[in-house]
Parts: sequence; C-alpha cells; structure tokens
Amino acid sequence: MRSRKYDRSISLLCPTCGSSDFSYDEGVDVTGQIVTCTSCGREISYEELQQENRENIEEHLSALKDEVTKDFANQFRRSLKKTFSRR
Ligand SMILES: [Zn+2]
Repeated sequence: MRSRKYDRSISLLCPTCGSSDFSYDEGVDVTGQIVTCTSCGREISYEELQQENRENIEEHLSALKDEVTKDFANQFRRSLKKTFSRR
C-alpha cells in the first residue's frame, strides 16, 4: 500500500518559493521527516525547514517577492478560473 500523503499547512515557509503548503506522511511526527513543498516540489527535512525559517526567510524572500507575487497572482487567477468553471 502506498503511504498516503496529505497537503498540510505547517506554518513554515518554503525557502525556495515562500509557500506554506507542504505534504508529508500523515500520522507520523513531522519532526525528522522529509516534507515536500506542494508549490515548487522542493524536498526538505522539517528540521532544515525550521532552521531556514529561523534565519530570516522573509528577508531572503523579499528579494524574490516581486517575482513570487506575480507568480502567485497568475496561479491565483488560474485557480479562480478553475473554481468558477466548475459551476
Ligand atoms: Zn516551494
């Protein structure tokens, strides 16, 4: 049986894209696990992720912010279209 993955917000930001949605194995302590960013697919250990977040990730991300914001806006628009087209 495949282990089931769930998308969860774990209130940490992806160091690559700034997303806070990661998938990881359900029912296991997330500490020590490798989590996968659902936005950019980056795999990172939870501990490393915490460390990256402690090290002023926002400062790092502010450099990317314009680009990221554009990407998010595009993705958001796309997902809105999807949502509305289902109706
Ligand atoms: Zn990411």
